[in-house]
Amino acid sequence: MNKMTIKDVDLKDKCVLMRVDFNVPLDENCNINDDLRIVSALPTIKYCIDKGVKKLVLMSHLGRPKGQVVEKMRLCPVAKRLSELTNMPVAMLDDCIGETVEKAVKDSPEKIILLENLRFYAQETKNDLDFAKKLASLGDIFINDAFGTAHRAHASTEGVTHYLPSVAGLLLEKEMAFLGKVVENPEKPLVTILGGAKVSDKIKMIENMMGKVDCFLIGGGMAYTFLKAQGKEIGNSKLEADKIDLAKRILDKAASKNIEMVLPVDNCAADKFDAAANIQDVGVEIPEGWMGLDIGRKTIDLFKDKLKNAKTIVWNGPVGVFEMQPFSKGTQALAEYIAALDAISVIGGGDTASAVRHFNVADKMSHVSTGGGASLELLEGLELPGIAALKDK
Ligand code: AMP
Repeated sequence: MNKMTIKDVDLKDKCVLMRVDFNVPLDENCNINDDLRIVSALPTIKYCIDKGVKKLVLMSHLGRPKGQVVEKMRLCPVAKRLSELTNMPVAMLDDCIGETVEKAVKDSPEKIILLENLRFYAQETKNDLDFAKKLASLGDIFINDAFGTAHRAHASTEGVTHYLPSVAGLLLEKEMAFLGKVVENPEKPLVTILGGAKVSDKIKMIENMMGKVDCFLIGGGMAYTFLKAQGKEIGNSKLEADKIDLAKRILDKAASKNIEMVLPVDNCAADKFDAAANIQDVGVEIPEGWMGLDIGRKTIDLFKDKLKNAKTIVWNGPVGVFEMQPFSKGTQALAEYIAALDAISVIGGGDTASAVRHFNVADKMSHVSTGGGASLELLEGLELPGIAALKDK
């Protein structure tokens, strides 16, 4: 990455303003269901403390309060968990801008301070520069470590960089190291697994990666639009009818460039979208009244065969409805197989990250991204505004 990071600056006695992604899932009673996002920010937080910062002012959004104070979206549960994880007291403020906040940051005996949910202000997502300036007044330097929101130009990701020297945190640096390498200079052969619900979400990525990928393995709901484009019967499987022509063009383009596009050769089909549905193993075509909800056994073996010699593997989108046990076999088999390979394995965020965690192999992957949208945009070849705004090296 050609951007400055916290390793390039002197943090001693500085008041550091840091954007983190603490948008954790909460249950009905505001208990944190999964603290991975807090845990992912710990290396940068620890680094700052070890370097002797004067204050570490953390800011994040949580949920979608749409510019209003929503009691259930306060960050208090995050402050509590962060304090447990760092073994340090954390001062939780009840606002993120204004005189009271400025005074609290200055006078707080605690080193770590957490501001209240940024999205209680509509100005945050509008990238309002007055709002950004008020946030910036809380620090001497800005660190962005929120990869999950780096694809958004918001006041706390882009706006603040107009007022403070701005550098990347360790998580952002790691994300860019893995995803940047995949896009710019991957170790070949590069095999990309694409799945998930919709073709339309992945088109730009396929087009951008076409020149770099040696082999695409296509599963999940999106595979059926491609199979339909090949004239196959797909029953009631997921179909984006308006994307059939595009799917045909993608298949033709890949063939003309000698890029493999491997589609399912068999499927696990169900008579309804339900874990308790009737199930049957079928070939490449899906009978009328049935829907393909997972790749079949032969396809699993075929995909494994294509993966075995890969030097780099990028995976974006589960190859079946892995959330329902009867349709989880394909995703589980691939997750476990990739985990045992030596290849560099980069797992896109969102559902694919949840899947590898669900099957307990996340720690065996080279990198599991913390940003679904942000990682997809990088693979689409887009520049992320939250990263573009940081200081060049
Ligand atoms: P995406 O957000 O596009 O990556 O889609 C992820 C979702 O796609 C997951 O919730 C899966 O359950 C779903 N999915 C995977 N395979 C299929 C399929 N064959 N039919 C319908 N949905 C699927």
